[in-house]
Amino acid sequence: MPEGQVSHRNAIRFTRAMAGRPLVRVLAPEPRLGPQRIPERLAGDRIEVVEAAGKHHLFRFASGRTLHSHLVMSGVWRLVPATRPIPPGGLWLALSTPEWTAAQYRGPLMRLLEPGERPAGVGALGPDLLGEGVDPAAAAADRLRRVDPGRQVGDALMDQRVVAGIGNVYKSETCFLCGIDPWRAVGSLSPEEAAALGATAARLLGEGVRDGGPIRTYRPPLGAPPRERTWVYGRRGRPCRRCGTPVRSRGQGDANRTTYWCPTCQR
Ligand SMILES: [Zn+2]
Repeated sequence: MPEGQVSHRNAIRFTRAMAGRPLVRVLAPEPRLGPQRIPERLAGDRIEVVEAAGKHHLFRFASGRTLHSHLVMSGVWRLVPATRPIPPGGLWLALSTPEWTAAQYRGPLMRLLEPGERPAGVGALGPDLLGEGVDPAAAAADRLRRVDPGRQVGDALMDQRVVAGIGNVYKSETCFLCGIDPWRAVGSLSPEEAAALGATAARLLGEGVRDGGPIRTYRPPLGAPPRERTWVYGRRGRPCRRCGTPVRSRGQGDANRTTYWCPTCQR
């Protein structure tokens, strides 16, 4: 599932490959995009930069238009060399420069905005933990202090209006690495604990941007199976890597997203 590390990694890769280059072809085979007439509206345009805001992707064009994409649970962006065919299955949109194609699969949220139009949901985002000039420790401490103090920590960390970028995997892993029980009330966090959550989440997200591929927060010792990738996420009933207590899991928050934690290490 895409979290903030995917949008930031894509922003870097796509900007590097496509910034300043003209669009030579735009395809929008997904019928749901038809009414937006994206190929017609982008004809002859040029990609200026690709930005990430939390889990949102923003392609900025020379015309002032912005393509706003959110992958939610299932969408994906791929960078395909122009010399290769674009894999067709599930293709929603393909933006081609002479050298590269940015191909988007399975949507599900995509909108081409006119100059001056604001992307829905982006203005309401909290500070992006990987954002330029953002101190993630200070930002998390500040934002978590303003949340309803009765809210659970794991639920608040996933709320993109509080801080942007953390998804379900990083939520569980961040709480584990900070030794904080995700079921605690936000109001019980010390400023130091809140800052540690922000700093840890930003470190994990930053590693995700750098490493690429599936999220890896845990590095197994030499000789252990390399597919082991997390401290607690997805490890229900298996022994905690630090203390051996069986890892627990339960749905949390309005969206009932599964949270994993060690009841011994996390207080
Ligand atoms: Zn433990």
